[in-house]
Formats: sequence, C-alpha cells, structure tokens
Amino acid sequence: MATVGSVTRQIAALELSNKPSGSTTASTRPPFHSKQSSQTNVAKLLTKYAAPNPPHASAFGSKLSKAATGPTIPHPHPTTSKIRPLNTNAPTPGATTSLDIGNYDGGLELENEKRGEKISGDAAQELALDSSSAQTSPTREWSLHDFDMGRPLGKGKFGRVYMVRTKAEPKYILALKTLYKSEIVAGKVEKQIRREIEIQQNLRHPNVLRLYGYFHDEKRIFLMLEFAGKGELYKQLSKFGCFSEKRSSRYIDQMADALSYLHSKHVIHRDIKPENLLLGLNGELKIADFGWSVHAPGNRRRTMCGTLDYLPPEMVEGKEHNEKVDYWALGVLTYEFLIGNPPFEDRKSVNNTYRRIMRVDLRFPPGMSAEVKDLIARLLQHEPQDRILLTEVLRHPWIVKYRPKGCNRGSEAY
Ligand code: AMP
Repeated sequence: MATVGSVTRQIAALELSNKPSGSTTASTRPPFHSKQSSQTNVAKLLTKYAAPNPPHASAFGSKLSKAATGPTIPHPHPTTSKIRPLNTNAPTPGATTSLDIGNYDGGLELENEKRGEKISGDAAQELALDSSSAQTSPTREWSLHDFDMGRPLGKGKFGRVYMVRTKAEPKYILALKTLYKSEIVAGKVEKQIRREIEIQQNLRHPNVLRLYGYFHDEKRIFLMLEFAGKGELYKQLSKFGCFSEKRSSRYIDQMADALSYLHSKHVIHRDIKPENLLLGLNGELKIADFGWSVHAPGNRRRTMCGTLDYLPPEMVEGKEHNEKVDYWALGVLTYEFLIGNPPFEDRKSVNNTYRRIMRVDLRFPPGMSAEVKDLIARLLQHEPQDRILLTEVLRHPWIVKYRPKGCNRGSEAY
C-alpha cells in the first residue's frame, strides 16, 4: 500500500516547489480570464500549491524538531503500538484541560448513519490515512475511542468539526475534524487532501494551525487539529465591518511572519483570505485552511467571484507564479481588514474585477494613514519582483508601530 510519504514524494517530484525561494513555478495554464465562468476551473486554480521539501531534507529542517518540545499526548495504546517509539513528531497540543469542552450532540454517529458510503479499491487505499504509519513523521496510533467528545465547532464541506479532549492524561483539548471518504472521492480531491495533510502536519509556527495527527475508519478520516478558541476571523470581520489600524497591523505582522516561515519551507499558500484564518485562544491569528473546506452558509464569501478578489495579476493572466502571490494577497488582506472590502472588488462584473487587478486600480478611501497606504501600495505591485519582501514588511513602520513590546519577530524561536 502506498503511504502518505511515498505519495507525497511522487507529488513533489511531479509538482516541484523544491526550488529555493524566489524561483518561479512553471505553469501551463491558459489565460485565466478566458475561464472565468467555470467554477471548477476557478477551484482548480485556487487549489493551494505546495509541496514539501525533499524527503532527505530532514522533514522540514531542524527548526521543527526544536519546536516540538512541548507536552506530548500519552500513547493511548501503549501495548498495541506498531510504530516507532515516541519521537519529536508526537502531538504537542497547546490547549490544556482547564477549558470546558461543552456538550456533545451525538452528531458524529447520526451523520455517520446517513452520510457517506464505504469505499473500496484504489480509493480506499489512497484514503487509508493514518499518521501512526506515515513514513516521514509517524505519530501515535489513535481512534475515536481516545477522545471525550465536546461541542460542535462547525460544519465543513466534508464533515463536522468537534471540540474534543484526550481521555488519557494530561487531557488535551483539540478540534477533531471529520472528512467523509466517499465525498472526497466524489469531489476527486483525494490527492489534494493527502498532500495537504502531509504538509500541514510538518509545519510548526505559532500562526499556522497545527495538525497533530490523523486516523481513519471505514467511512471517514479524522484530523486532530489545534483548537482555535476564538473561532473564525471572518466572523469577526463580518461583525465589526472592518478592523482598526492597530488590530489590522497586529494581524498582518503575524501573517507576514507565518508566510515567511511557510516560504522558507517552500510552501506557497496561494489562498490567503479572511475565510481561511482562525483565531487562537489569545486572539492570535492562525492560518487554518486545508484547501478543501467550506464554511457554513452565510459565513463564506457570497460567490466564487469574491474569492477572485485575492488573485494577483500573474494568476489572472495565467502566467508563471511563485511565492510572491502570497505577498499580493497580504496586500489585499491588509486593505480588506481596514476597509471591509477587498480593493479590486466589483460586485457587478467579474471582468471588471479582473481588469482592476490587471491595472492595479488601487483607490484609498479617506482616513487611512500614510504608513498603511505605503505598505499596501508596496505589496500590490503588478510585477511580483517589485513587491516589498516579507522581511521588510516585518520592519515596516506601520507594523513596528503597533507591535507589542517584547515580541520578537523573525527570531529562530520556532
Ligand atoms: P472547516 O471544515 O475547516 O471549514 O471547518 C468548519 C468550521 O468548524 C469552521 O468554520 C470553524 O468555525 C470550525 N473549526 C474548524 N477548525 C477549527 C479549529 N481548529 N478550531 C476551532 N474551530 C474550528
């Protein structure tokens, strides 16, 4: 049976991104504007593009093992373990026992009866995902019985998300996300999911949502995710309409640091937008998107057109693109935080949005500080190589001005 690691290596070989930062990625896509009416094409285009480091590059480098020094979840099946002894890849959840996990509504069992079918053959093999048997960074063996179920946190496209606590001491709190295999197969996203799980599990940054492990049963895959205690950032943005410069600056500071980290691991996110961001227990930002999730109705952007607002000119034109697409999206995000809408939005016409992106038709409403306008204008440069570097974003006056004292960005702490 193919393992996650081997499949990921095949994908990495096919799809590259092992080039050093700054390299470009070959793209054979036709011009984007000729395909605007197709949601499928848009979805494909928006599929996060990322591939891990080569397998011998010590699984995302030495910083990661350094980071994995937090508390570990005790092995739930110490005598039946078929994997290597505990290692630095063992889950290290941050949230602890003092939180109330709330009441379980029995939703998983109800849903399991109604939803999804058993799958067989190649698809079943492809989706037999288990972090305890992953070749590159195996964790421990897990099953649903290892958790006390708590309140529902939300519904995604492929299943529900619950707040849970490990039964074993010291009872850690996590978000457990279900994905129905038959729906993954129907959506033809098996490979994408495998790739993203593998990538996500190897990332360690305070502003990137951790994936501690995953396991499966006949119908479902379960993801053990870091619990984002303050929920969706998009909800906050909808509630308040926009954020203050101080709040926006603090989020953008965290985003720039997280993106800088991702790019250093040769991961390009390509789908930065408010809907893909969660907030941790202390209100810290967490990049949380796995590329296949959909928020509950009303919580998401109205149409796919909305999502197009974050596309950079090079993707609109179907040109080669690299990690600088995330720089552009960071500029769009900064603008949307402050104004409440993305800068090139045209609700009447998708073509107009494209045109505005291509012309970088950037208009600043009154009331924005000169400093933030400077930062946005430097990020929203038509030519990728002209965009301000993330290291410079982290030193920009608008960012430094609002950074809490004692916060050490760009340090080797991760
Ligand atoms: P998703 O399938 O990722 O879109 O998740 C559905 C909903 O569950 C989201 O809109 C969030 O409200 C919630 N959710 C997902 N993951 C987490 C998490 N790690 N912590 C807290 N809430 C989450």
